[in-house]
Amino acid sequence: MNYENQQVISIAKLYIVPTPIGNYGDITQRALNILKKVHWVAAEDTRRTGVLFKYFGIKARFFSLHNYNEQQKIDQLITKLKYGQSIALVSNAGTPLINDPGYHLVNRCREIGIQVIPLPGACAAITALCASGISSDRFCYEGFLPVKKKSRQSKLTSLLEEPRTLIFYESTHRLVDSLRDIVEVMGKDRYVVLARELTKTWENIHGASVKTLLEWVLEKDIRHRGESVLIIKGYKATNTSSIVEGMRTFILLKKELPFKKAVTLAAKIHSIKKNILYKYALEHI
Ligand code: SAM
Repeated sequence: MNYENQQVISIAKLYIVPTPIGNYGDITQRALNILKKVHWVAAEDTRRTGVLFKYFGIKARFFSLHNYNEQQKIDQLITKLKYGQSIALVSNAGTPLINDPGYHLVNRCREIGIQVIPLPGACAAITALCASGISSDRFCYEGFLPVKKKSRQSKLTSLLEEPRTLIFYESTHRLVDSLRDIVEVMGKDRYVVLARELTKTWENIHGASVKTLLEWVLEKDIRHRGESVLIIKGYKATNTSSIVEGMRTFILLKKELPFKKAVTLAAKIHSIKKNILYKYALEHI
């Protein structure tokens, strides 16, 4: 196939260009061709993208676009596109828009009829899912779990009975806390795969029931360092989840006891935090 013939860059197009999530060998030939030819490259961190471009001998005019300034910068980018200047949107790593800036820009371009050309490429969520051994038929990508424990547990509670495979991005300093919350909310037996440092030298993909995985992670510092993705097996009615068991007990107790008392006792019996079971009971009864 002749790539060059396919890469006729015409005016006023926005190209969505994935970059590697670690291994520079994962950039595509098509991405390199586009990045060399566009008028502008909209990037999150121009210094970081600059290192990648230097490696591949790409000279580009950069335009900085962050999550926090995307709305304000859109007008300037749209003006460039209207003047016939092509733009490639890249992020620090992987596919733009996937937990990275770009959604508002793409949305505006489509609203006003500017052509958006997406290129396929590296994405940590999909790379991790494919290697996890957990069903990839149906999945939910959930981005990062909330930073605060209460909101994080609330989020996990809302996904407790989600039958599809769950995908989360995770940061080094929150991985252990998140695993602890998964044990607490989804039960110690939920199967989870931790995919770390994908495509890099220390790539590691390890799966176990979440309590065992947490213990394994805590054994060595290196196991919670670096970039990671968590893949959680979807809920199955046969799963023994402490909350589901807690709810069963609660429903029985509620017949004889006031709501609060029933929650307190059921939570105690199954070693679940009272407030988690309380919230779940309120939402599901
Ligand atoms: N746009 C990116 C993509 O397509 O995957 C995601 C950007 S998001 C800001 C960064 C998060 O992606 C990291 O905190 C980590 O959870 C995940 N990630 C990125 N690179 C990774 C890698 N090489 N291995 C594992 N996870 C990675």
